[in-house]
Amino acid sequence: MSSAVELTSPHEGPARVSPTEVNWRQIIWCNDCNMRHTDVVIAGAGLAGSAAAAMLAEAGTDVLLIDPREVYPPDFRCEKLDVSQIEILRKTGLADAVLNAATPDRSLAIARFGRVVERRDGRQCGIHYADLVNTVRRQVPANAFLPAKVDSVVTNADRQILSLSNGEEVSARLLVLATGLNLGLRHQLGLARKVISENHSISIGFDIKPVSRRDFDFSALTCYSESPATRVAYVAFFPIGETTRANLFVYRDLHDAWLKRFRAAPREILLEVLPSLSQLIGPFEVHGDVKIRPVDLYVTEGHRQGGVVLVGDAFATSCPAAGTGAGKALMDVQRLCNIYIPQWLATPGMGAKKIAAFYDDPEKQAYDAWCTNKAYALKRLSLDTSLPWVAQRWARFALHGARGALRAAKRRLTGATASVALSSEH
Ligand SMILES: Cc1cc2nc3c(=O)[nH]c(=O)nc-3n(C[C@H](O)[C@H](O)[C@H](O)COP(=O)(O)OP(=O)(O)OC[C@H]3O[C@@H](n4cnc5c(N)ncnc54)[C@H](O)[C@@H]3O)c2cc1C
Repeated sequence: MSSAVELTSPHEGPARVSPTEVNWRQIIWCNDCNMRHTDVVIAGAGLAGSAAAAMLAEAGTDVLLIDPREVYPPDFRCEKLDVSQIEILRKTGLADAVLNAATPDRSLAIARFGRVVERRDGRQCGIHYADLVNTVRRQVPANAFLPAKVDSVVTNADRQILSLSNGEEVSARLLVLATGLNLGLRHQLGLARKVISENHSISIGFDIKPVSRRDFDFSALTCYSESPATRVAYVAFFPIGETTRANLFVYRDLHDAWLKRFRAAPREILLEVLPSLSQLIGPFEVHGDVKIRPVDLYVTEGHRQGGVVLVGDAFATSCPAAGTGAGKALMDVQRLCNIYIPQWLATPGMGAKKIAAFYDDPEKQAYDAWCTNKAYALKRLSLDTSLPWVAQRWARFALHGARGALRAAKRRLTGATASVALSSEH
C-alpha cells in the first residue's frame, strides 16, 4: 500500500508527497491558499495606477490593483486637463469616460499685465481629482480591484511577493509601483528620493462666485503675474460643474505669513497681488474652503531593478504650476501599458534589463525633461528680474497679443462671411 498522501494545491495541481513531508507541504499549501497569483500587480490606485489597471484589463492582461481606499477621497490635486493632456489620455483609451465626467470650458481668455491679450476656443476641461480617479477606477473590472494596503514587498527578477494589510499575499510577475508620494514601500525596495527643488511652488485652490449677478462674463480665464514682486505665477479660473474653480500658484516659503493672510482673507489678498482682477472679472467672493499645498520636485534613484517599475509621482513629481503632473502620470502609463508590459509578459523573467527599456523610452524621457524644464522656466519667468527674463515676459505679452489680434480678426472675418451668406439667403 502506498504511504503517499494526495494534496491538491489550487496553483500547482495534485502533488504526491510522503507522510514525512505532509506537515511541511501543508503549511506551504495553506499559505498558498491565501496567496493570489497574477501577471501584473499594481500598488496604488491614484490616477497612474488606476489608468494602468484599466488599460491592462481592457487588453486582457491578468492584473490586480490594490489600494486601501475603496473610493478615492476628495483631494486637492490636478483639477484641470489641458489639450496636450487630453491627447495623452486618448492614447490610454480612457478619454471618453473622463471627458464625460469633466466640464469643458467654452473659451479661454489669457490676461497678461492686467489686460486680456488672447481669447481661445475652449480646449481644456475641469474635474476634481477624486472624480477623475474614481471615473478611471470605474473602468477597472470589480474583480481586479482589492481594497487593502500593500504592507511589504519582496521583489526579484522572476516573481514579486506582496503582503497585504488584510493578511493576503499576492504573487505577480511584475509589480507596478504607483503609490504616489507614499514612502513606505520605497524604503523596502531601496529606492532613494532625491529632492531637486524643495518647496518648488505652492498651489492654492478655492471656488469663486460672482457678486450681484448670476454668472461671470468668462468661461475660463488665466491671469499671469503682474509683477515678480508678488511671487505669483498665475491664477487660473475654470468651470467644474456649476462652480468656478480657482487655482493660484505662488512661490513662497512654507512659513511665509502671506499664506496665513491668504487663508484668512483670500479675496482681499488675491486682489492685493493681482489688482487688475477686479476689472477683469468684476465683483466676486471666495466661497468654501481654501486648500494650500506645497510641492517639492524630486526624482527617484535606485529604480533600475528587476521585477518592479515605477510610474507617476512614485517615480518623480512635477510642478503643479506647470500643470504637467497628470500628463506625466498618463504618459508613463500609456507607454508602459501600450508598449512595454505586453513585450515583457511575452518572454520569461522580469529582469532589470527589461524594465530599463521603459525608463529609457525616448518619448517618456523627452516628456519628463519637458516637464522639468517647464517647472524651472515658469518659476524664473515669474520671479527673475534680470534683463533676459524681463524681456521674455514682454515677448510673451507681445506674442499672446499678436495671436489674440489674429484670432479676433479671423473671428470677425468668419462672422462677416457668415452674415454675407445669411443676407444672400434671405
Ligand atoms: C496641489 C496639487 C495640484 C496639482 N495640480 C496639477 C495640475 O493642475 N495639473 C497637473 O497635470 N498635475 C497637477 N498636480 C499633479 C498631479 O495631481 C499628480 O502628479 C498626479 O495626480 C499623480 O498621480 P499618481 O497616481 O502618481 O499618485 P496619487 O494620485 O497620489 O496615487 C497614489 C495612490 O497610492 C495609494 N497608496 C499609497 N501607498 C500605498 C500602499 N502601501 N498600498 C496600496 N496603495 C497605496 C494611495 O492611496 C493613492 O491612491 C497637482 C498636484 C498637487 C499636489
